[in-house]
Amino acid sequence: MRIRLFDTTLRDGEQTPGVSLSPSQKVAIARKLDELGVDVIEAGFPIISTGEAEAVRLIAGEGLNSEVCALARSNKKDIDAVCDANLSYVHTFIATSDIHLEHKLRMSREEALTRATEAVTYAKSRGLHVEFSAEDATRTDREFLQKVFGEVAGAGADRIDIPDTVGYATPSYISDITRDAIQASGLPVSVHCHNDFGLAVANSLAGIEAGATCAHVTINGIGERAGNASLEELSMALKCLQHDVQYETGIKSEMIYETSRFVSSIIGITVQPNKAIVGDNAFGHESGIHTHGILNNPLTYEPIGPELVGRKRWLKVGKHAGMHGTRAILAEYGIHPTDEQLSHILSRVKEMGDMGNMVTEVELISIANDVMGDDNIKDLVKLDGFSVSTGIGTMPYAFVRLNINGKKYSGTDFGVGPVDAAFNAIQKITDATSELVIKDYGLASISGGSQALCEVTVRVADTSGQSISSKTVGKDIVTTSVRAVISGANRLMLKKMMTQER
Ligand code: MN
Repeated sequence: MRIRLFDTTLRDGEQTPGVSLSPSQKVAIARKLDELGVDVIEAGFPIISTGEAEAVRLIAGEGLNSEVCALARSNKKDIDAVCDANLSYVHTFIATSDIHLEHKLRMSREEALTRATEAVTYAKSRGLHVEFSAEDATRTDREFLQKVFGEVAGAGADRIDIPDTVGYATPSYISDITRDAIQASGLPVSVHCHNDFGLAVANSLAGIEAGATCAHVTINGIGERAGNASLEELSMALKCLQHDVQYETGIKSEMIYETSRFVSSIIGITVQPNKAIVGDNAFGHESGIHTHGILNNPLTYEPIGPELVGRKRWLKVGKHAGMHGTRAILAEYGIHPTDEQLSHILSRVKEMGDMGNMVTEVELISIANDVMGDDNIKDLVKLDGFSVSTGIGTMPYAFVRLNINGKKYSGTDFGVGPVDAAFNAIQKITDATSELVIKDYGLASISGGSQALCEVTVRVADTSGQSISSKTVGKDIVTTSVRAVISGANRLMLKKMMTQER
């Protein structure tokens, strides 16, 4: 069965506390959602500001394959604003729960019902496709909710939506009211679930299994408070967890990860590492037992292949590591210890882990180097020289000289600070050789006072999505940062070289 995905990243998602997008950012996200294959893009709430109306108008003019709709309260002004933005599809709503009627709208149930049907009639008279939401449906009196859905259907609504506005539903309750809504309206039903109790995706799935044919979702599950049902999770659950019924969506699953990263970078909200499907750790393995299983057959500890959502699996060493995983990681760098060497390496790794330290790949290689005592681990990138200048009334500026595999390079660049300027200069140089980007940067002070040691952690990635984190400790923040980047770059380029040789 084909399930429609109604993406509200640009409307409910933008209502995430602290998030505000410019029209051009909204257009960029809309294009990406269209490419991903969502059925509907809820572009915004045009009545709230001129910029918002402008953004909705721009998205409407993009000629996207996805349908575009916008939000309106149940009144003429709001609906007119949707028409003025050149849309032909409105998502209109009014609250129907007693809590909202009494404390927000100060309206009786009958008044709310009249407003709802009048709004639907008006929107139809303006030629719009109408999706009607009974806000706070899951805390609305069940009989009254049925009455509302029946009457707005009678007034000409094209679709009904059940918003679980404060995430109050359970899967069985949303199933019940989905059946009610279908019966009362005879229309296609959507569910709009919030994640206040971590049930947004489960509730959406329950609504669909009860007959809803559409779900409202957002990228990374962003949205008001704890957010909305996540597009990544719901679309993959529909695709992969098929038991009785086969579900399909229009989503190109291989684009899920890049879309998640894209939206997260524009919106400025990072995804939690343990988030399903798109979190950093979703396809990462450290424990020896799991790593061993994965190396034999990924299906042992992965429900789906990471490629399906445009990702790669990664293995890591730490105190839970085992021989197989450690050997596999070292092999990626062309390092092949004997069994005895490997067990020495592993015990050093576990010692570090027991002290509560993260073991980066760079450290693993240094340990291997120590244990194996040979010089088989090359430094491809060497720092030949480096200076920065910064101050007040001047733009921070850096000069970097590198030796990459015997060739000399130099680069200069500006930045928002000396570290940024140095990174930019390094990037300028490495772009010419292997297109590295600095993904994350973390700075911590180890001891107090102005003589403190600092610890810099960076994650360097290449265009294929391979990334490596490296950690360096030193006295000078800028120099330590530059050394961390170069150490990451070294390992990444070495890994790449080894992969190509194989
Ligand atoms: Mn909502």
